[in-house]
Order: sequence, then structure tokens, then C-alpha cells
Amino acid sequence: MTKIISGNELAKKIRSQISQNVQTRIEQGKQTTLAVILVGQDPASHVYVTNKVKACQECGINSILEKYEANITQEQLLKRIQDLNEDKNVHGILVQLPLPKHIDSHAVIEAISPYKDVDGFHIANAGALMTGNPIFKPCTPYACMKMLESINYEIKGAYAVIVGASNIVGKPMALLLLQQGATVTICNSKTKDLAAHTQMADIVIMAVGRPNMLKAEHIKQGAVIIDVGINRLENGKLCGDADFKDLQDKAAFITPVPGGVGPMTITMLLQNTLEAASYLDKINYNT
Ligand code: NDP
Repeated sequence: MTKIISGNELAKKIRSQISQNVQTRIEQGKQTTLAVILVGQDPASHVYVTNKVKACQECGINSILEKYEANITQEQLLKRIQDLNEDKNVHGILVQLPLPKHIDSHAVIEAISPYKDVDGFHIANAGALMTGNPIFKPCTPYACMKMLESINYEIKGAYAVIVGASNIVGKPMALLLLQQGATVTICNSKTKDLAAHTQMADIVIMAVGRPNMLKAEHIKQGAVIIDVGINRLENGKLCGDADFKDLQDKAAFITPVPGGVGPMTITMLLQNTLEAASYLDKINYNT
């Protein structure tokens, strides 16, 4: 029987711990604050940001939501980030992607202080992840690692195949698994005979954005499937990149969509914000 790794349940446990830590900070007279910047009218971005702000509220983390019209200039956005970097009452800064085409996303991400980069996208954090010691791990791969940890999976020596090689999911995911002793393959859209790779994997991480592409015939018996993909079907329902029904009884563990990696990603954002606040306290930044 395939077991489900519930992101909702795991998120609830971790968020309860985060709430306690935030509460302890409040009792010490310290706030924990995340600034969220949203540019334009992309409906999916509005939903993601609303969920993040709501999750902050539930854990006692203050959120400052700044919404800007799509025609904001890059200069104006960079100036606002600089102000937030210097604001000692702000611990984490998140700029919701994608940004409008006239804005260089890289320039915007690089403008965020690496100490407040709770998404873990800044080049300093990405580079530090390569050598093993980032200030912040990117939230989605961090979430996937927590989900593997929750089932006490022995990552050391396991063969992990990651399908999808983006900077925010696939590549950092590979590094985190490698650091834990996995043997890792990253596949992309040019990979020849994708199934030949996934069929050998103990762990398959799906991060493509193609509904139900991973079928039972593509995995070996007893594999663990972590499904990062979020796809909206024509009937309005959400599904992952892994065919949840087809994989039943073949996979040992699987994460559902919705209710899997999604809520855990937001949870790791809260965790990173809490860590940012503690870190900035320590270096006496937030006096
Ligand atoms: P990107 O579009 O940035 O990257 C997709 C990757 O998939 C690319 O590396 C691409 O290859 C690869 N790919 C595309 N087609 C194939 C194929 N047929 N076979 C193998 N690889 C393929 O997406 P993201 O990484 O940003 O997101 C991936 C999915 O995860 C999306 O559904 C997104 O919505 C979801 N997501 C979910 C999150 C969560 O919290 N649960 C957070 C972030 C993303 P190439 O490099 O060659 O183009």
C-alpha cells in the first residue's frame, strides 16, 4: 500500500513549533516581520501571496504586504528593497515572481540583503548552498527534504532522480540531496529516455509543470515520489506531475497535490523568516 506524506499534517506540526518560537520572541519584546512585494495583477501570484500572508498571521509573524502596479520602474523597486534592507524592523524580504518583463528579476533578487533573503534565491545563498552552508535554503527544496526526513528515509546511498532543473527547485534540490549522501541525476526537457532514469530511482522528485506525466511504468516498486508540480486541469482541479492514482501500490510513499509540497513550501518560508529574525538579533542588527 502506498503511504501518503501529507504536507498539510507535517506543516501543521512544524508551524506549531514556529508559532511557539515567535511567541517566545514576542515575550522577549521582539517582533518577527516579513515584507512581501507583489507587482502587477498575475492571479496566481495574488493567490500565493495571500496564502503566505495568511500563514504568517497564523504563526504570529507580522507581514508587510506592498502591492505595486505593473508599471513600477525597476529603479523604484530597487529603491524600495534598499529601504527594506535598511529597516531594522524587517527581517525577511520576499519579492513574488514572476515580475513584469521590463524588470530584471535577477537585479531585483540580488538587491535583497542575503541576510533577509528568506526565499534563498540570492546568488550569495545559491553559491553558499553549492559549498554546503547557505544562510537560507530555498523553500521548496527545503520542504522536500523535510518531507523525506518525516518518513525517516535513509537518503545516504539512495539514488535520487530529479525531473526539472530550474534554479528555484531542481538544481538546489540536487545539492541538498547530494549533501545528504544521495547519488543524484537531474533531468531536463532534453533528457533522452527519461524513464530509464526514473525507473532506477529510489527517490523521484517531479518538478516540471506537466500534469500526471509520471506513471507507474516509469518507477520501480517501492520508490518514494515527491511531487512539486502544480498544474490546473481544464475542470479547474489541481494535480501534480505524478499520476497519483496510477502510482498507487507501486510507490512506497507519495506526496499529494494539493496538500503536499505546497503547504510545506510556505512553512519553510516561515521557518526561514524566524531564522532571519534570530540571525539578525545575533549580529545585533535588530536592536
Ligand atoms: P520551470 O518551468 O522553471 O522548470 C521546469 C523544468 O522542467 C525545466 O528544467 C525543464 O527543462 C524541465 N522539463 C520541461 N519539460 C520536461 C520534460 N518533458 N521532461 C523532463 N524535464 C522537463 O518550473 P519550476 O521549477 O519553477 O516549477 C516546476 C513545477 O513546480 C511547476 O508546476 C510549478 O508550478 C511547481 N512549483 C511548485 C512549488 C510548490 O510550492 N509546490 C514551488 C515552485 C514551483 P529545461 O531546463 O530543459 O527547460
